[in-house]
Amino acid sequence: SVLDRVEAVESRVQSFVTVTREQALAQADAVDAKIAAGETVSAAAGIPLALKDNLCTIGVETTCSSKILRGFHPPYDATVVEKLKTSGSVFVGKANLDEFAMGSSTENSGLFPTRNPWNLDYVPGGSSGGSTASVAAGEAVWSLGSDTGGSIRQPAAYCGVVGLKPTYGRVSRYGLIAFASSLDQIGPITKDVRDAALLLGAISGHDDMDSTSIVRDVPDYTKALTGDVKGLRIGVPKEYFAQGVEGVIADAVRAAVDKLVSLGAIAEEVSLPHSEYALPTYYILAPAEASSNLARYDGVRFGHRTARATSHIDLFEKTREEGFGPEVKQRIMLGTYALSAGYYDAFYLKAQKVRTLIKRDFDQAFEKYDVLLSPTAPTVAFPIGQKTGDPLAMKLSDVLTIPANMAGIPAISLPCGFTNGLPIGLQIMAPAFGEEILLRAAHAYE
Ligand code: GLN
Repeated sequence: SVLDRVEAVESRVQSFVTVTREQALAQADAVDAKIAAGETVSAAAGIPLALKDNLCTIGVETTCSSKILRGFHPPYDATVVEKLKTSGSVFVGKANLDEFAMGSSTENSGLFPTRNPWNLDYVPGGSSGGSTASVAAGEAVWSLGSDTGGSIRQPAAYCGVVGLKPTYGRVSRYGLIAFASSLDQIGPITKDVRDAALLLGAISGHDDMDSTSIVRDVPDYTKALTGDVKGLRIGVPKEYFAQGVEGVIADAVRAAVDKLVSLGAIAEEVSLPHSEYALPTYYILAPAEASSNLARYDGVRFGHRTARATSHIDLFEKTREEGFGPEVKQRIMLGTYALSAGYYDAFYLKAQKVRTLIKRDFDQAFEKYDVLLSPTAPTVAFPIGQKTGDPLAMKLSDVLTIPANMAGIPAISLPCGFTNGLPIGLQIMAPAFGEEILLRAAHAYE
């Protein structure tokens, strides 16, 4: 039925770079055969899933929605892919994204834009726009995205689905094509909080192939879904209601807080004074890391190679000129500048210090509160083309999601109403490895 749905709507929504129909049918048959033979299967078995196309899949082209990776067939699976294969997942396809996950609307895809299933003239958000649109449109039951500054949560908010960015280190990044390694996390995009708990459990855990993944048991996250929030201490950060947040969104989030209070939670206003520096700090650190990570695309080892080279330096230059889109080029230049001799201390080092201040704000807040509630994004989805000429306006759509990446803490976005037929997102943040309390609060609200 999911493949039928792809057939029916994909030409309009354009969630997928690649649809792996044959693979999906074979994987589904294999699960059926196991069930028929009386074997027990895991919770993820047989469930059709979309993978963001920055997750390496053996034998299936992995593009990052970049021309530079066209034709790249990874020789290995990402750890999350391997885990899901073992658990009997059915892979529907590779979902579109902003090129190398740089963007907030999927309009930066080097291949084509994805549309918001709620209104095809609107963006689905980004960078995991294909992953969220596929779930919202019924082209997959759930999906995986990656979140460096909001790329799971912001598109989840725009598409009216649930998106969870786990604690940094909870999920192995092995086989996730790196954007900004100290910020990137893979996470689930689902229709409800129970599915988020199930899929998170299926992908979490330590991995020898990722030295930043943490050695820590993976709990049964569904056990956290008790519905009980009596005595839960909620902080409502006041800075998250300024920053251009539309009145109707602020109202919807305050109503969500009220609902949890009516269920027995306690809510208070809190201040995270360094939040206002999160966005500028991010746009030093993320491009710096990206400029280093993207140095490997030289036309020798991966994907595209120019046909016009006259020397080896020329090979690098022309391959990169032809392969990277404008947003990626701009970030490589910004990042290289911020890291260069004479500027390192003024930009990169300073940004690292500010990152610590942002994290300390959260440490202090979590001494008093179990979770923090805010809008996921200042606005709902915007019309295609509206912000492509205004990079600052585009980047401001992540102003409320970036701080959680800076601090490495888990955060979830879930639907909390509509305005003009477009979904509004509620964000809940929790302390590092507080996924259970996060899911408990989200589930009680839902
Ligand atoms: N939109 C932000 C950016 O462009 C965040 C992207 C992400 O989380 N991958 O960098």
